[in-house]
Amino acid sequence: MERIGFIGLGIMGKPMARNLIKEGYSLVVHNRSRGPVEELASEGATPASSPKEVAEHSDLVITMLPDSPDVDQVVTGPGGVVEGVRPGMLFVDMSTIAPATTREIYKILKDKGVESLDAPVSGGEVGAKEGTLSIMVGGTEGAFKRALPVFQVVGQNVVHIGGPGAGQITKACNQIVVALTIQAVGEAMTLAKKAGVDPAKVREALLGGFAQSRILDVHGKRVLDRNFQPGFKLKLHRKDLGIALQTARELSLPLFTTAQVAQSMDALLAMDKGELDHSALILLLEQLAGEV
Ligand code: NAP
Repeated sequence: MERIGFIGLGIMGKPMARNLIKEGYSLVVHNRSRGPVEELASEGATPASSPKEVAEHSDLVITMLPDSPDVDQVVTGPGGVVEGVRPGMLFVDMSTIAPATTREIYKILKDKGVESLDAPVSGGEVGAKEGTLSIMVGGTEGAFKRALPVFQVVGQNVVHIGGPGAGQITKACNQIVVALTIQAVGEAMTLAKKAGVDPAKVREALLGGFAQSRILDVHGKRVLDRNFQPGFKLKLHRKDLGIALQTARELSLPLFTTAQVAQSMDALLAMDKGELDHSALILLLEQLAGEV
């Protein structure tokens, strides 16, 4: 079995690492705050004090970090993964970051004899806990085959999309669909409420027809319960729409509605709501409707 290094033990990373420990993998773990490191150490993982130390004691290093600068710093910064790698190792970034950053990191590690995969995920905290994530992978076929047994522990639907960066492009597409669907659900539920119709009944009716979706189901329920604890933080989803918009800009492609929803998210960030779940997108609509 490969020795696995795991860096980034937040909402997603901690349960993913835990599932690998339960499957019998030997794990070396690192995180910026020490709480989750100590927690996983008590469950059998080996704590490490830097990304470099993680790499030195692993065959395969996984990162699950917030954003492109975080992955860049953890890999190429002082005490970074690059300082601890050996030829033949495999690096797998499962964070959602810019495809351009992914490709830069691919080249840097390739020069050290290390293959990389970009393998962002969908399925949220629940999918991370249950080991049912959907994983979209970019990189070589050989590297994909090597990592597949590990992916199958943390996920269920694992698809090799194409070369380096292809996984991140797929994730950007995923985040567009999710954001715009949350906006649609939010608009529908706000309209129902404003018109004096029970949004719970509207959700129930729509779930049985063509408008049904997992987002209407899960996030519609969150809205009804007024449960905006993350989940997936709004500020991270805004980061993802930034990635989609920047990638589209590089291709001279307009993404009209994505840009509008990104602006709504900015308004919520300005109201200090970035740490809430992304279903909190509805709060802006409710405020505009005079219902807050
Ligand atoms: P999160 O809860 O904020 O976790 C990120 C973790 O990375 C935190 O534990 C943080 O440590 C750690 N970290 C940050 N910078 C670091 C550094 N320089 N060195 C070591 N550790 C560092 O975020 P998340 O929700 O797990 O998301 C992680 C990634 O998965 C993001 O790219 C996100 O877009 C993506 N994603 C999330 C979801 C979801 O539903 N949450 C779903 C799909 C994809 P601290 O404890 O110090 O903050």
